[in-house]
Amino acid sequence: MQYQINEDEHWTTYAACSGVDDPELFYPINYTGPAVFLVTEAKMVCGRCIVRDECLAWALRAGEPEGIWGGTTPEERRHLRRRVPA
Ligand code: SF4
Repeated sequence: MQYQINEDEHWTTYAACSGVDDPELFYPINYTGPAVFLVTEAKMVCGRCIVRDECLAWALRAGEPEGIWGGTTPEERRHLRRRVPA
């Protein structure tokens, strides 16, 4: 989907997660075991988010240590940061 961010807007304006009933879904207490179900659910929201690339880029730049950002867990972002030079 094409979208255009106006000068007075930020990519978060288009965040699919801003409309979910439970924002805590994106901050599970764990990322393995029984919590995998929640992580998967959050990733499904990210999968239909039109600003996923912007979100992931921000999280990688910021070194965001917690939460699901751009469809990734903290561990997945650590792997990405090691693979892609800053
Ligand atoms: S990619 Fe996921 S965490 Fe990022 S703005 Fe979209 S829905 Fe939210």
